[in-house]
Amino acid sequence: MNSDAGYEELKKSISEKAVKTGYKLNPDTDFLDLIFKSLFTNQKRYGYPSCPCRLAEGDFKVDADIICPCIYRDPDLLEFGRCYCALYVSDDYTTAMGAGSIPERRPVKRANLSKVGDRMGVKNVGERYRCRICGNEVTVTKAGGGVLVCCGEEMELLE
Ligand code: SF4
Repeated sequence: MNSDAGYEELKKSISEKAVKTGYKLNPDTDFLDLIFKSLFTNQKRYGYPSCPCRLAEGDFKVDADIICPCIYRDPDLLEFGRCYCALYVSDDYTTAMGAGSIPERRPVKRANLSKVGDRMGVKNVGERYRCRICGNEVTVTKAGGGVLVCCGEEMELLE
């Protein structure tokens, strides 16, 4: 239960809009609550409900494509039967389909890549990196110095 004012309003608004526009929400209510809470957290953080499964920049113009419902929802529903976060699902969706991840449709942002030169890249063989979005993990076998990117974002150094 989330006691913040506005949470129930956001939840109601998304649910009602889905019904009105013919979209279906994930039937797993516990999972749905997690997504709603994350959307509400982002709304408080950025002033808009950016996608809970992607890293936002906090700049409305940059994040416009991932404000829920994102512009990738419909093509993902058509191709995979769910949106990237599995908030929206197709009629024939089963909860088992939500177990894995689907490919990130959002293009790698040029803005992020243009900043690569300012950041610390791979230094040593054996460093492990994880994608904060899809969970991919990689271990460096040859250090080239560049920054590793997955799902359009810089990967996180684990060790
Ligand atoms: S992937 Fe789903 S939850 Fe995330 S912004 Fe798009 S529609 Fe919303």
